[in-house]
Amino acid sequence: LEALDVGAIREAYPILQREFDNGEQLVYLDNAATTQTPDPVVDAMSDYYREYNANVHRGIHHLSQEASIAYEEAHDRVAEFIGADGREEIVFTKNTTEAENLVAYSWGLNELGPGDEIVLTEMEHHASLVTWQQIGKRTGANVKYVRVTDEGRLDMDHASEIITDDTAMVSAVHVSNTLGTVNPVSDLVDIAHDHDALAFIDGAQAVPNRPVDVAAIDADFYAFSGHKMAGPTGIGALYGKEEILEAMDPYLYGGDMITKVTFEESTWNELPWKFEAGTPQIAEAVGLVAAIDYLEGIGMERIEAHEEELARYAYEQLDAEPGIEIYGPEPGPERGGLVGFNLESVHAHDLASIMNDHAVAIRAGDHCTQPLHDKLGVAASARASFYIYNTKEEVDKLVDAIDDARQLFA
Ligand code: PMP
Repeated sequence: LEALDVGAIREAYPILQREFDNGEQLVYLDNAATTQTPDPVVDAMSDYYREYNANVHRGIHHLSQEASIAYEEAHDRVAEFIGADGREEIVFTKNTTEAENLVAYSWGLNELGPGDEIVLTEMEHHASLVTWQQIGKRTGANVKYVRVTDEGRLDMDHASEIITDDTAMVSAVHVSNTLGTVNPVSDLVDIAHDHDALAFIDGAQAVPNRPVDVAAIDADFYAFSGHKMAGPTGIGALYGKEEILEAMDPYLYGGDMITKVTFEESTWNELPWKFEAGTPQIAEAVGLVAAIDYLEGIGMERIEAHEEELARYAYEQLDAEPGIEIYGPEPGPERGGLVGFNLESVHAHDLASIMNDHAVAIRAGDHCTQPLHDKLGVAASARASFYIYNTKEEVDKLVDAIDDARQLFA
C-alpha cells in the first residue's frame, strides 16, 4: 500500500494551520472525539446552501427536487460504502447514540421482557451501555457484560458462556474508543445468531478508519457518526437488515414518515423514511456523501495502514517513557488508531492541560466508558487519537509535552 501524502492531505484542512498565542501550531490528536472537516466537505455543504437549499420529499418545485435527489441518494452512497444492500437499510440519525436509542426504543421496548437477556461488553461506550441498561430496567430484561481481559481484549470464552438461548440482543463496540481494541465482531455476531439473538455493532470508531463491510460482519444493526469521519456533526447512520427494520415500529412520529393519515389511524412510509420523521439533516447528508467520496478517494485500506503505523509509533514512544501506563492491546491489527494512557501521579486532566499549553489537543476523562475505567482502577485516562493528517512529528510533540509534565509535577 502506498503511504498517504500527508502534506497534500493537510492542505485541505485550513484549521490545521492554526497557531495559538504562544506561536505553537495546532497538533490535533482528538480525532476519536471528532475529526476535522476538509474543504471538499465544507464546500459541498456550502454549495447546498448557496445553490439548492429546499425541503425534501414533498416538493414539486425545482430546488426541492434537487435537494430530494441529493438527500435520498445519500442513503445509496452510505449503503454502498459499508456494503449494505440499498437505501432501505440506511436510516439517517443524529449520531451513533441516536441509532442505539432508535433500536432500543423501537425494537427493545417492544420485544424484551423478564427472562430475556441483553449482552453488552465491559468496553461499551455509554451510548450503548446506558441505553440498554435503561431498556433492561424498563422491560425487566437482564443485562450481562462480556469480560475484558487484562490485555484489553474481549474474553471470547466468556462471551460464549453468557450468550445463551435467553439472549435476545448482543450489542458490542467494533473498535473501543478507550482501549483501541479491534473486536472480533463477526465472531460475536455468529455466537449471537447461534442463539437466535440479534447483534448490534457500534462502528463509531471503525467506519472512519478502516474498510467496513456490514454484510461480511452479518450484523443485524450497525451504527456510526459523520463527525468522526471527516463529515459534519448532526448526522449519523443506522444500518439495519431490511426485514428487521420492516418489522419494527417507528421510533419518532410526524411528517414524512407516514403514508396515509386519518383522524383515527396512520400508516407508515416505506423504508428508510419510516424512521426519518420531520425535516431531516439535508445539508449534513450532502456533507456526509462528500466525506465518503473524500475518504474513498484516499482509500480506506491506506487510511487504516496509516493509523496503525501512527498508533504503533505512539505506543512505542510512550512505552519507552518512564511512568506511563498504556491501556489496551499491543500495536498491530488488533489496535485501532488511538492510544489511551496515564502518567504516574499526574491526573489526566492536568496532563491534557499541559499538552494544551503546547497546542497539542488530546482528550482526558472517562471517554464515556466509566465502568471500564472503574475496572482499570482509574477515574480518567489521557487519549491521543490519530487521523489521516497526523504525522510522527506530531507524536514526538506529544511525547515532548509529556516530558514537560513530568518535570512540572516531579
Ligand atoms: N460509540 C463509540 C465507540 C464512540 O467512540 C462514540 C463517540 N465518542 C460514540 C459511540 C457516540 O458517538 P456520538 O457522540 O456521535 O453519538
